[in-house]
Amino acid sequence: MKKIVFATNNVHKLEELRFILSADFRVLGLSDIGFGEEIPETGNTLAENASQKSHHIFDRFQLDCFSDDTGLEVDALDGRPGIYSARYAGENSTYEQNVDKLLNELKGVENRTARFKTVISLIVDGTEHLFEGRAEGVITKDKRGGKGFGYDPVFLPDGYEQTFAEMPAGLKNKISHRGKAVAKLVAFLNGL
Ligand code: IMP
Repeated sequence: MKKIVFATNNVHKLEELRFILSADFRVLGLSDIGFGEEIPETGNTLAENASQKSHHIFDRFQLDCFSDDTGLEVDALDGRPGIYSARYAGENSTYEQNVDKLLNELKGVENRTARFKTVISLIVDGTEHLFEGRAEGVITKDKRGGKGFGYDPVFLPDGYEQTFAEMPAGLKNKISHRGKAVAKLVAFLNGL
């Protein structure tokens, strides 16, 4: 069976991709290849960050691999928090602190349009391929729902009445930024 490394430390993402690709690929995590360091993430865009992470692992191990990077872009904030989504309220900030900061910054703001974007960088046989997925929506005025993670309680996807944190995980995965990017990755890998 073909092997592929997912350059992530997030066990939930790893399990998800293992399951989706299980028929054709053995998906290895960073610990499976003995890599325990932080991967630098110093790019100015999601694509640069995703690319930096997959190249870091490819350069070291010469194994087929992929990585992902996600950000929330809020139009009224000129695209912030974007690549800083994980640390919007400061280094080591919690999901709750980040969400509270976002709601504060949007207090009294009418235009609440936003989108999640995920970029996946795949390196196969030494060649890089990028896949992007987007979810358009609006930022709610209050937090709603207890499922999911990150900014899910304040993100209302276009065409739905539930935030990502209120809807069943299966539905979120189908319509989400990451779900769409992963679907493109899987279609590509299965076509190899
Ligand atoms: P990462 O690149 O996937 O680690 O995502 C960076 C940050 O974006 C996370 O720490 C979360 O705050 C946020 N984020 C990523 N994906 C989602 C999602 O599906 N829902 C809500 N927030 C997310």
